[in-house]
Amino acid sequence: MIVILRPEASQEAVGLLMEQIRSQGVEIHYSRGTQETILGLVGDTTHVDEDWLRASGVVADVRRVSEPYKLANRRFHPEDTRVDAGGRTIGEGTFTVIAGPCSVESEAQLLEVAQAVKKSGATCLRGGAFKPRTSPYSFQGLENEGLALLREARRITGLPIVTEIMSETQLDDFADVDVIQVGARNMQNFRLLKALGHSKKPVLLKRGLSSTIEELLMSAEYILAGGNPNVILCERGIRTFEKMIRNNLDISAVPIIKQKSHLPVIIDPSHAAGIAWMVEPLARTAIAAGADGLMIEVHNDPPHALCDGAQSLNPAQFDSLMQDVRRRAAFEGKAFS
Ligand code: PEP
Ligand code: MN
Repeated sequence: MIVILRPEASQEAVGLLMEQIRSQGVEIHYSRGTQETILGLVGDTTHVDEDWLRASGVVADVRRVSEPYKLANRRFHPEDTRVDAGGRTIGEGTFTVIAGPCSVESEAQLLEVAQAVKKSGATCLRGGAFKPRTSPYSFQGLENEGLALLREARRITGLPIVTEIMSETQLDDFADVDVIQVGARNMQNFRLLKALGHSKKPVLLKRGLSSTIEELLMSAEYILAGGNPNVILCERGIRTFEKMIRNNLDISAVPIIKQKSHLPVIIDPSHAAGIAWMVEPLARTAIAAGADGLMIEVHNDPPHALCDGAQSLNPAQFDSLMQDVRRRAAFEGKAFS
């Protein structure tokens, strides 16, 4: 971290600031130039608060040269993390396909979709029991009844289940869920992230609608810092000025995250596309970019879905996508786990 001092800062104030910085376990290289005086902070600066430095009255600017996340950082953890999700491995060398409806609507609907996606080769079953909807008048999910149906679908198909949590108060109800999803809207729900850090549950952390990759990694850091190493990141499209698609799939997130972090990365082309026909081309780009898996919305009757029908594949479309995905994943040297 580089701290640029104000030219008018008194020696006394600078000395006091340096003392306070050193007390945080960081070394300082002091360099006085003709134009600027600079403090080079060396060591673990993740705990040094930029705002605190700026508020000191002696600091003109602060620039970070190393990332503010440590546990999510590949630099301190070069080997790829693999997460065990209900007996399936998610991460380097494997390919995961999490498929299922946006929301669990009924026993018949979930079981039909679960059996269809299993037959086509999906490795995990998704389904929202608690839905974060933009409108309070939209279907909010079957809640605990939806969780019970997911357990039943797991018992019948053997597929691990992935479902979204809305609050840390639900952790007990989610105790036997295989992968807990944190949705885009909750990516910065820090109380929830902290609570998930204290559990050991695998967490699928989705990128916020308008979040940077660094913010996504900082949210992952919250979970890791609590002692839970089982974090899977999910790019699901971000908001841009483009109106022709629901969200802009940021495919560059895959190579960037892979370079910066050791955590697995899954792509959700369904929420990015917003329309079913675009899911397959986006899924292809995800595999080519090096993603560790896909999350795809599948519904037995998309025109009558209670949530996200337009972007949902029907079982036949999913089956055809899976034939292509299997070939491409094998080409990339990834095994279906
Ligand atoms: C979902 O996966 O159904 C969902 C609500 O996704 P997101 O949080 O990415 O909008
Ligand atoms: Mn959805």
